Formats: sequence, structure tokens, C-alpha cells
Amino acid sequence: MNFLSCLECSQCLKEYSFLEIHNTCSCGYPLLVKYDLKELRNKIKKSALREREGTLWRYQEFLPVISSNNIISLGEGYTPIVKVHSIGKLIDVEEFYLKNEGQNPTGTFKDRGASVAVSKALELQIPAAILNSSGNAGAAWSAYSSKSGLDLYVVMPHEVQENCLKQCYLHKAHSLLCDMPMHRLGNMVDKLSKKLGIFNASSFREPYRVEGKKTMGLEIAEMFNWELPDVIIYPTGTGTGIVGIWKAFSELAEIGWISQKNPRLVVVQFEGCAPYVKAFNENKDKCDVWENVHDALGGLRSPKPRCDFLVLEIIRETKGKALAVNLKETINIQYEVAKNEGLYLSPEGATTVMAAKKLRAEGWIKDNERVLVVNSGDGIKYLPMIDKPDVPIVEDEDNVPEDW
Ligand SMILES: *Cc1c(COP(=O)(O)O)cnc(C)c1O
Ligand SMILES: [Zn+2]
Repeated sequence: MNFLSCLECSQCLKEYSFLEIHNTCSCGYPLLVKYDLKELRNKIKKSALREREGTLWRYQEFLPVISSNNIISLGEGYTPIVKVHSIGKLIDVEEFYLKNEGQNPTGTFKDRGASVAVSKALELQIPAAILNSSGNAGAAWSAYSSKSGLDLYVVMPHEVQENCLKQCYLHKAHSLLCDMPMHRLGNMVDKLSKKLGIFNASSFREPYRVEGKKTMGLEIAEMFNWELPDVIIYPTGTGTGIVGIWKAFSELAEIGWISQKNPRLVVVQFEGCAPYVKAFNENKDKCDVWENVHDALGGLRSPKPRCDFLVLEIIRETKGKALAVNLKETINIQYEVAKNEGLYLSPEGATTVMAAKKLRAEGWIKDNERVLVVNSGDGIKYLPMIDKPDVPIVEDEDNVPEDW
């Protein structure tokens, strides 16, 4: 059962068939998947979800894959939302929740986009794909491609986290490191894809990743029993996740499963690469290229996001906010969470806790508001960044230090 209706341009609203292979609109902007939501509403009840499996494929009617035979799943999605009491206390947010995307198969929420888009590529009989990645998307797509048989080409910046590169290698993707800024990497992949005749699967260059990220929003709604939190804070690079979460809430509101009131969506970036924050503060509807990227890690190094106009519109429409946080402060709060909550967040994920702290301190988050932050990845992926701890080494039980 599927409810696909068409692919629609996010900018000029031109429509395309979902039966054909498409990248972006002829106007250059990203395409979004449209569904026949009236039909979906008539055929599916919320209660039907109860018996479904604990992966993002429990929402198959909201997803673009037509035949279940084409689903490539490693058990992604349906990640837990945990109440983080002691950090909540520390930053004075009583109702403080964290969605832990670190529990996805390759360690980040990139698995959602990869599972859905790689499945759809199989359905459309696409033999090979190329993408640029700051690391985690490459790792995720490599894993899913190795299972589906998609021939994958990954282009990454030379300063990529070593373990992401290793993941790509383990899953036998063709990997390439480039010494140039991320946004130029994107242009290079556009050209390479044409030159080699390989499908361009980069962020917002194909329509289906966002559908995978959308399931985060569906899960948030379902796990909060269809009563959305007041504020959702998301670590933003390109913004696929923000678009996905917003799309989920729009579709759910249209079929009447949630009320029309959207949570305020907050975009967080590092101070050293904050194109969204700059554009938001200057009241612009597009981002300038962030020229001098520094002190920004992993998935948040995105100097010229490609769906900027839509993300900025979403922040304003939901009365949200874009703010930048300091790398050092973020690492401190990452340790604080590890010490108190037993959760080792990715540095990108930790920015959301830092942002919540700031927004509460300045009163933007009000008393008794329910706040959800998204930890985008598992801190364990970043362990090589940490020096080996200086702990005592002993020969036997008699020379254990007194103060151990
Ligand atoms: C990709 C990534 C992000 C940014 O996500 P977008 O949807 O591109 O904005 C944040 N955190 C991690 C760990 C990532 O891999
Ligand atoms: Zn268009």
C-alpha cells in the first residue's frame, strides 16, 4: 500500500512523476515528496501502529518505497526518548527530554536518510550513486549500499573523522578525500556525477533522504502520545533534519493526528560555522557562504546549505530561533552529560543541550515548557578525539594508590 502522489519543487511548486528518476527541479531547487493524505487518512488509524516493528519502517504509509521487497533495513529508527533529569535540573528545565539518535546502526541519524533513499534507489533500479559528506552520511550510505548492492562513491573533506573514513572502507565504498571547503565539495560532486553518469545522492540533490529524516518527527509525535513538546532543538548542518521534522508535523496535522500548533523549532550551529544563525539574525531568506570555517565539528560543517530558504522559512513559521554555541562550552557540557546521565553524546548533539541552557537562561524557554533535544549521534564515534586518560598503572593489589 502506498500513497505517493508526486514530487513537488520546494520553491516553484512544479510537479514531477515519482515513477521516474529525478534529482532537483529544473529551477535548481530541491524536490519534496507529496502524498495523497486524504486517502492515507481514510485507510490508516493511529492504533494500527501499535503492532508494528520498532524501526522507522513502522511508518511505511508515510514513506516513498512502494514494494516492501525493496526495503533495506539494518534496524534504524524508533530510537528512545529519555527524560534527562539531572541535566534538566542543572539548566532549570523541568521537562527536559533527549531523543537518542546515537542508537542507530552506524551511530548517527544519517541512517534514516540512507535506509529510505538506498531502498528507493533499489526500487528505481539505480545502479550507482555519488555523494559528498562530512563523514557520517558517507558511513551510513556505505553500510546500506553494501547490503543493497548499490555501487557507492563518497567524497569527503580531507579533515574527516578517521573512523567515518574507516566505516566507508569497511563497507567497500569508493572513497575520496579532497582538500577544499565543503560547499565546493558539493559543486565538485555535481560535476563528477554528470561526468561519470552516476546518480547524485548528495543532501537535497535527491528527494528521498528527507523522507527518512521525517520519521524522527513521526516518532516524536507518537512517543509523546501525539502531544508535541513546546520546543525542539536540532543540531543543524544542511538542515535535512529540520525539513524532515517539519514535514512530519505538517503531514500529521493535515490528517488530524496532531493539533495544528507546531513546536518552536530551534536550529543550533557552532560559532565557527553558523550561516543559518547569521541569515536568521539579519532577517535574510538565504544564507551567505560561511567563508572561514573553524571550531566546528563533523555534521555541522556546512558553509552553504542548499535548502536554506526553506529552513529559514520553517524557523520563522514555527516562531523558532537559530543560535550559535561555542565549541569549548559544548565539549564541557558533553562531559557534564556523560558524568551525570550515562549518555555520551556526539559533540554536534551536545550543542543542543548548550543551546537549551542558553535559551532558558535568557527566558526564551519559559517555566514548565517541555523541551526536546536531538542527540544526532553516538559520542563513541568521536573517541579518537580524546587523549588516553592518565590513570594509575599498577603491578598488583598492593600498590594501588591511596586516593584511587
Ligand atoms: C549530519 C549531521 C548533523 C546535521 O544534520 P543535517 O540534517 O544535515 O542538518 C548533525 N549531527 C550529526 C552527528 C550529523 O552527522
Ligand atoms: Zn522549481
